[in-house]
Amino acid sequence: IIHHIVSSPDSHQAAEDCATPLPVLRHVADAMAADMRAGLEADGGSDLKMILSYVDALPTGNEKGLFYALDLGGTNFRVLRVQLGGKDERVVATEFEQVSIPQELMFGTSEELFDFIASGLAKFAQKEGGKFNLPQGRTRELGFTFSFPVKQTSIDSGILIKWTKGFAVSGTAGKDVVVCLNEAMKRQELNMRVSALVNDTVGTLAGARYWDDDVMVAVILGTGTNACYVERVDAIPKLHSPNSTSGRTIVNTEWGAFSSGLPLTEFDREMDAESINPGEQIFEKTISGMYLGEIVRRVLIRMAEDARLFGDCVPKSFKCHFLSGINCFCSKRQSIDNRTPDICAMQQDTSRDSEEVGSILYNLAGVNSNLSARKIVIGVCDAIARRGGQLAGAGIVGILQKMEEDSKGLIFGKRTVVAMDGGLYEHYPQYRRYLQDAVTELLGPEVSKNIVIEHSKDGSGIGAALLAATNSMYG
Ligand code: ADP
Repeated sequence: IIHHIVSSPDSHQAAEDCATPLPVLRHVADAMAADMRAGLEADGGSDLKMILSYVDALPTGNEKGLFYALDLGGTNFRVLRVQLGGKDERVVATEFEQVSIPQELMFGTSEELFDFIASGLAKFAQKEGGKFNLPQGRTRELGFTFSFPVKQTSIDSGILIKWTKGFAVSGTAGKDVVVCLNEAMKRQELNMRVSALVNDTVGTLAGARYWDDDVMVAVILGTGTNACYVERVDAIPKLHSPNSTSGRTIVNTEWGAFSSGLPLTEFDREMDAESINPGEQIFEKTISGMYLGEIVRRVLIRMAEDARLFGDCVPKSFKCHFLSGINCFCSKRQSIDNRTPDICAMQQDTSRDSEEVGSILYNLAGVNSNLSARKIVIGVCDAIARRGGQLAGAGIVGILQKMEEDSKGLIFGKRTVVAMDGGLYEHYPQYRRYLQDAVTELLGPEVSKNIVIEHSKDGSGIGAALLAATNSMYG
């Protein structure tokens, strides 16, 4: 796309470097499947960590009772309660609240942070009433979604490896975060315990599976990205003493770290070099929301400077405004501020003179643009979104392919659902279409009829509560 409309050597090269013809996508799918296998063989055997979730029993729909969920993954935490009524009544009622975490607690001690969370939970639990009903003498049970790197050791324990995303809390690394939360709840005199510690992708799979038995894979495409799927325990060589009664378990791929055979441009390499984690999370940097807008920004700056995209107007402010993401990189903070919603908005502009594109460019960068410049900008956005969506699609096909190879016909020969969630997937229609098209093209018309890629909105909260139910101490 880029090299059709602009004559700059850099953009020619970039367009070539980021192209995703079918053979490239096929190679990515095959490499994803191979890396999954290597990661299942041995820890450290592959870019993909293939982390065991210890979730061996998935929700069936028969779950009954009152369960809580806590989601801690950023500057807010969310608490939720759900009353489950079994096969017929299903979800009788849900309620949730969101609490923002004061900045100073992100730099405080572990006790301070967990006390704050437990006290939020206690206040929320106090308001329990109406349709929510805890049998006398019972302890409340909680599913804890914790989106930081942990070394999980069972369904209800996991050691924090390190804080990320701007958290610098002292005294938690190396400790079991479930113990930290259970102790804080005790200090708050809250009668509640953690029954399941889950990753948000795993929560999404569980939440979607509750409604649909054919859900086998879950993918998050938001600020970052990850995927998990249902694996057979006998296909996990690194699991030495499998004791799953179902014979299955959810594996968290951590696929953001995948890197094999990706079509990267010089702009990707520069962005990676300036990021807080150079050389890491390369798949994530090509397909997820935190980065797509940033890549476009880099291409446009180069085109403004070298190919006079906006005429004489070489936008100094273009750099400054667009640079907000990069400033965050420089100060070594993980930024949740990104420009992907802007490139998405520009692509939705279908007016004849692309007025919306013009005003977004003006607001972001202070540049005046003519129609042909606006068309070029849309072309760049489209090229980057297309590559992202198609590579995400190829990754999904890789996972399905691996599952199919081990279970001949059980994936491709029947209806199989991939549950999708995350702001990027939800809000970027072109991206979503490229993803679906790549899946259809790679699988062919027959098989792709059986593969359903479905949005499962905010399933991860209820999913965590459901996993507390399936792992309840009351059996
Ligand atoms: P998170 O991944 O941060 O937990 P979300 O799943 O809500 O949260 O994803 C938020 C991300 O989705 C944003 O960082 C942004 O990259 C992307 N996003 C949000 N809105 C849009 C939009 N309108 N168009 C494209 N991308 C969007």
